[in-house]
Amino acid sequence: MNRGTCVFCDKCIDACPQRALLRNSEIFTIDPVLCTGCVTCVNVCPRGAMQGDDVADFARDTIESEG
Ligand code: SF4
Ligand code: SF4
Repeated sequence: MNRGTCVFCDKCIDACPQRALLRNSEIFTIDPVLCTGCVTCVNVCPRGAMQGDDVADFARDTIESEG
């Protein structure tokens, strides 16, 4: 994640269909159980702060287990 460009607008959090993305002050966390790796949060970020790599690691187990 590119924290330098994040403006903490919470659009990524509001857009997550799984409610997997949470923010505590400047710290973002993704629930690895809930996250499906849909990258909606990446796509809605107006600042390019949220990046594919941020969700890829969390989602990998889910994607692999689904074959
Ligand atoms: S949408 Fe982008 S700029 Fe807004 S809080 Fe999320 S990461 Fe930060
Ligand atoms: S990639 Fe994960 S955290 Fe991002 S919107 Fe999709 S389910 Fe939510």
